[in-house]
Amino acid sequence: HAKRQGRNMYRCYDPSMSETTERRMLLEGELRRALSNNQLTLHYQPRVHALKRHIIGAEALLRWKHPILGDVSPVEFIPLMEELGLIHEVGAWVLEQACQQLRKWHQLGHEELLVSINYSAVQFRDTRLAAEIQEVIQRIGVTPDKVEVELTESAIMEDAGQTESTLIQLKSLGLRIAVDDFGTGYSSLGYLRRFPLDTLKIDRTFIRDLPNNADDCSLTAAIIAMAESLNLSVVAEGVEYEAQAAFLIEKRCDEFQGFLFSRPVEADVFLALVESQIV
Ligand code: C2E
Ligand code: MG
Ligand code: MG
Ligand code: MG
Repeated sequence: HAKRQGRNMYRCYDPSMSETTERRMLLEGELRRALSNNQLTLHYQPRVHALKRHIIGAEALLRWKHPILGDVSPVEFIPLMEELGLIHEVGAWVLEQACQQLRKWHQLGHEELLVSINYSAVQFRDTRLAAEIQEVIQRIGVTPDKVEVELTESAIMEDAGQTESTLIQLKSLGLRIAVDDFGTGYSSLGYLRRFPLDTLKIDRTFIRDLPNNADDCSLTAAIIAMAESLNLSVVAEGVEYEAQAAFLIEKRCDEFQGFLFSRPVEADVFLALVESQIV
């Protein structure tokens, strides 16, 4: 929705144009201080086993709470962080926090939990990224195969050379690799066999109108079948209704993530969810 609104706002120039520019400049100034002022946090959204419904792990999602502006969506501030060159520093902080959190959960006995961390195309252009991730994982001492790196399909296609080499390095360290927002990027599927992938996350725009929209049903079923034959695990994003879950189970989807199970929550709330389930 935010993207759609943004586009409309650019179209009507006069007063709203300057409002857009004003908000942008305001956010830019505040964003530079967000990390040092402790305004950034991570929330964790459960990833749930489709059939057994137990929590497999969490996706770490960045949150920015400004004392006056309130909550600003990552859809709005991540692109700004990229333009301002803040994304590398913030990305390093996200990685550190998520790995520390994962180690705590593992130490509490939840050793099977995995955490997935989002990376943008800009972050993947950094040739030192794999070395940075290796340093953090080894220093904190988390099991690499319990850490999944999420990269959007469009980011994977953007700078194939550097992306491929980083993905290969990460894979050789033992990390898991997920394609985020699958189905919204490019139509070329060649990268699916070229890159060392573990997981496809079907974009929630395909899930939204299941099981009523016949085209979405066909596309989703085809994506799940393709993932299965390529030995990739498949996650449906944005599952909000039981009818969607039922359709996806019938098509043999592996995992769900969505408001039906939980919104993204603070780390201690996530832990409480994990500990409240009958395992
Ligand atoms: P994403 O990686 O595709 O994350 C999933 C988004 O879908 C999250 O939005 C989540 O809150 C939302 N979502 C989950 N379940 C449902 C549902 O059932 N219904 C609906 N309507 N939405 C659902 P969020 O947290 O606003 O994040 C938006 C995007 O911002 C993420 O999309 C990701 O691309 C980016 N992002 C978030 N954290 C980070 C980060 O640490 N680093 C980077 N580079 N990007 C991040
Ligand atoms: Mg993601
Ligand atoms: Mg996604
Ligand atoms: Mg998305």
